[in-house]
Amino acid sequence: MAEKKGVAGERDKQGICVLCGSVGEGVPAAPDFAISSARKIRKLLGMEERHTIACEKCLQACIQKREKFERMNRNYRIYAALFFLLVFGGSTALRGFDARILLPALLGCAIILLLPYGHYSPKFESGKKSGKNSQEL
Ligand SMILES: [Zn+2]
Repeated sequence: MAEKKGVAGERDKQGICVLCGSVGEGVPAAPDFAISSARKIRKLLGMEERHTIACEKCLQACIQKREKFERMNRNYRIYAALFFLLVFGGSTALRGFDARILLPALLGCAIILLLPYGHYSPKFESGKKSGKNSQEL
C-alpha cells in the first residue's frame, strides 16, 4: 500500500537555496514558469537537475522578496496600462487611429511588464500551515 511517496517528497526538499546557494534541505519553490524553464534549460545543457529551495535560514527573507516581487508585478501592470493609454490613446486622440503606433506601444508595454523580473523571486510556501495570516509590517 505504501507507494514510497514519502521518499519522493523527501527528495523534493533537497536542493540549492535560492538566496545563499547552500545545498541542503528546505522548502521547495513552487514550480512556476520561471522555475520550470530554468529546469528545462538545465536539462537541455545536460546539467544536474536541482530543486530550487529556501533553506530554513533564508525562508523568511525569500518570502519577503516574493511579496516585493508580486507587489512590483502588480504595480508595473498598472504602469504598462497607463503607458499604453498615454502613447496609443494619446496618439489616437491627437491624430486619429494609427496602426504604426500600435507595435511600439505594445513593445513598450512588454518591456515595462518584464522589468519586475529583474527582481524575480520564486514562491515559497512557509512550512507552518497555521501561519497563513502572517502579516509582517
Ligand atoms: Zn539559504
